[in-house]
Amino acid sequence: MKYHKIRKMDIANGPGVRVSIFFQGCAFHCKNCFNPETHDFNQGIEFTEKTIMQIIKLCQEDYIKGLSILGGEPLHPININGTKKLVQKMKEKYPNKTIWLWTGYKIEKIEEKEILNKIDVLIDGPFEEELYDPNLKWKGSKNQRVIDLNRSRQTKKLELYETEKESIK
Ligand code: SF4
Repeated sequence: MKYHKIRKMDIANGPGVRVSIFFQGCAFHCKNCFNPETHDFNQGIEFTEKTIMQIIKLCQEDYIKGLSILGGEPLHPININGTKKLVQKMKEKYPNKTIWLWTGYKIEKIEEKEILNKIDVLIDGPFEEELYDPNLKWKGSKNQRVIDLNRSRQTKKLELYETEKESIK
């Protein structure tokens, strides 16, 4: 599996200063996707144990609030094992830093539920151009949801992240 790029300091994808990784390869091909150069599974840089260790090291600074995982599609069958290893290592090493993950799958369609237990916030669903709104925070179109998985685990129902609730009032 491959990744497209790593950002050492990202303030656009999730709260605070974060490290972010964009995986390579996506089969959704949403019209006017924000990141079409990540669609081809054959391009990009090899994702290895070394990449995981590089990310772990980048996250060690106190000012890094967490890791954001984007794509491409991190949960595509070609990418999911690498994503699993990364989130596992990240939570072992930094249980208090958050993991945010963007996926084109709706949460109800994600078969590998185990990975969701290690993620704090999930932004789900494909980008739909007709529902695009530049004022939305952390998502591109209105059909997507910013889901607070920590609260969802507590209440056992789907809970939206607070800012998300504000944006749909
Ligand atoms: S799921 Fe994300 S990366 Fe894939 S085509 Fe849609 S917007 Fe682009």
